[in-house]
This record gives sequence, structure tokens and C-alpha cells, in this order.
Amino acid sequence: MVVSFMFLKRVRGVRDILPSEAEKIHIVVDTCTDIAKSFGFREVILPVLEHLELYLHTLGETTDIVEKQMFCIMPRGEHNKDELYVLRPEGTAGIVRMYKENNLKTIYSMRRFFYFGPMFRYERPQKGRFREFYQFGIEIFAEPPVGSDFVIIKLASLILERLNIKYELEINSIGCINCRKDFINSVGPKLEKLKHRLCNVCLQRLSKNPLRIFDCKTDMLWLSKEINVMDLDIQKFLCKNCNKEYEETLMLLKENNIEYKTIPTLVRGLDYYNGFVFEFKTNLLQAAQNTLCAGGRYDGLVSQVDAETKYACGAAFGIDRLVEVVQYLPINAVTKVGIAIVNDNYFHKAFSFIDNLLNIKNAVIIGPIKSKSLKAQLRIFNNENCKYVIIVGDEVKYNQVVVKNFEKNIQNVVNISEINKVIQ
Ligand SMILES: [Zn+2]
Ligand SMILES: [Zn+2]
Repeated sequence: MVVSFMFLKRVRGVRDILPSEAEKIHIVVDTCTDIAKSFGFREVILPVLEHLELYLHTLGETTDIVEKQMFCIMPRGEHNKDELYVLRPEGTAGIVRMYKENNLKTIYSMRRFFYFGPMFRYERPQKGRFREFYQFGIEIFAEPPVGSDFVIIKLASLILERLNIKYELEINSIGCINCRKDFINSVGPKLEKLKHRLCNVCLQRLSKNPLRIFDCKTDMLWLSKEINVMDLDIQKFLCKNCNKEYEETLMLLKENNIEYKTIPTLVRGLDYYNGFVFEFKTNLLQAAQNTLCAGGRYDGLVSQVDAETKYACGAAFGIDRLVEVVQYLPINAVTKVGIAIVNDNYFHKAFSFIDNLLNIKNAVIIGPIKSKSLKAQLRIFNNENCKYVIIVGDEVKYNQVVVKNFEKNIQNVVNISEINKVIQ
């Protein structure tokens, strides 16, 4: 019989994360968590499944995610629109829903939250891009601009510095609805004249959110030659208030020695942003995926969902990219101890040492292993970099075992009650 092994292959675009990679991910995420907690952020765990409608309403119709990257799930036998789910493509929409649904503003006086987990996008798998990827996100609700923006930037820069990752911070202000109206009135007619050359996606954006055309790499190539780039500078259209906020943010960054570059065409890939937006970039990865952390304000989105909450801002870190570029990882020192048995008669007795060994700081216990010669067991423990091996044999009659120190290559008979004194 011919057996198909298709079912033993992983799904296209996802990865198996092996132990050394998983350990790196945790070190990076622990760093993010520690620093977020030191600014009063508290963890939330968001569901992976959300209603499709949530993303249609929050991310905006002209975003790539909504147009072509959603992982939709239709439950069996149900064809009701409410019953269409998605594997979450990002975290912000979910946390805004959680904030509203659980009325978090009445439970916590500081509404600073963080989350970590897998996100899903149905895109063509290519190097460095996966359909399942990991993000760490931070969000601040109900704190006005400038202060909350600065906290997010400071926190993100601390994380990158702690991980020893060199970055460039790119910032912009995309203004409020009023500034954007002026911008669209000015640039709109120019774009309208060139619309026959726009790609299909941007043609739709032209009527819905022209600002997003800047996100199109193909159109921007020729567009930047046709239109004076200065005309595309939304900062020239900022209203008095948006301008004041932006200037104050710049001042805070300068006062705190955070270097930045202003990029007038930085608009972010999602419709929900307004005001201050930013991206932390690295030159260690290729240009299409060199953003390590990105975010901005989404006051408009949060106030649409919860009228009493006027402000929100946040950022998300691409954990897979951080892991790729991180130079230095502090590794926790562990003491590995193997439990060997002279023969299988001591197999049960060998388990009685586990509680004892667990009292040793950072102990990692390996064994006992049945049906292997003592020599074979020692070889395994040596390959696993055990510092010590306890050899359980005849001496147990006298409440003793042999303790072998692999590093010093010495061994002693030790009273069982004194194992913890010998192994450190
Ligand atoms: Zn404005
Ligand atoms: Zn385009």
C-alpha cells in the first residue's frame, strides 16, 4: 500500500520552532515584558479567533490585510455573516474590542496593556515572511498625545537597546481628519489626473484614503517623479493643534537624546492611525522587512468604539525579526544533573532523588534511562553537557550514591542526605 505522507508535512508558510529558536524567542519576549512592566503595563491574553467584521470595520477597507491577507474561517454549516471568523492578523483591533467589551476603563485607572502571541496573514510565503508570525504589542488607552507617544517610543527604544540592536527611528505626523481634508483637497486633483496609471488597489484608495497610496511601492516609483515630493508632505497641511503636538513630541525626543528622522511619506499600512506614527528600522535586514517595531496613535478608532475614550496609541514588535537581528542573548546558567543506574534493578529507586535535586538552584534533571549500559547512559549525559551524574547502584544499601563531577572528572561516594551539599 502506498501511504501519502502529505499529512506529515507542515502547512505552507508556517514554521516549526525548534528548542534553540524557541529559547531565543522567550529571551526576547521576556525582555519586552520586563521593560513594559516597569512602565506599568499589564498583560492581556487575546483570543486568536475574532469576528471577520471586527477587522473589516477597524483596519479599513483599503488596507492590504483586509483586501488580501485575512485568514478567514467559516464554521461548519453556518453561513451567517456574524459567524465568519478570522485568525487575528494583528493585535490592536482585538485589544480595542477587549477594552470595550470588558469595560476596562472602569476597572483600571491606568489603561496600559501588553500582549504576545501568534498573528496570521494569508500572503504569498517568501523569505522572511510567514503566514504565522509572532508579535509583542503595547497599547495605552485614554492618555492624551505627546506624553503617551513618548512613553511608547521610550519603551521601544529601551527594549532595542537592552537587546543590543542598532536602530533608526523614523517618525511622521499624519494629522487629524481636518488636516487630511486639506491635504486631499490639494493633492487629490493631481492624483486624479494620473489615475489611469495607478494600480488597481491605489485606484480604490484614491477615493477612500489617498494617503495610503504612499504605501504602494510600485506607484510611488513613478509618482514621486510626476508629483513634487514636497506636495506630498502631509506635514505642510497639519492644523494648528496637530502641528503643536508634533513639535512638542520632537522636543521631548530631543530632550531625551532619542535620535529620529522625519519621513513625510511614512503613513503606516493601516487606515486607523492618526497623528504621530513611527517605525523602528534596522539595516541588518533587507528593505522589504526591515521594520522591527511600528505604531502610532489611533484616537479615531478607539473613540468610534468607545465614545468616552478619546485617546489611544501603541506599537507592535515583530518578534521573529528581533530574534533574527539580536546580537547578544543572556543565557540562564543551569546545573544539569544526570541520574544513572548501574542496572535496571535500581530504576525505581532512581526516581526518589528527583525531589532532592529540584532543591538545587536552576537544576535540570535528566534520566534515569532504562535498558542501557552504564557506559551508554554516561555518554548521553556527557553529550547533554551534564555537570554532575548521580550513579545509583549497590551503595544505596548504605544510603549512599556515587556522584561524578563531569567538569572536574572526579567521583566520590556521597551520603544521600548530603547530595545537595556536593552538587551546586
Ligand atoms: Zn489636525
Ligand atoms: Zn498602487
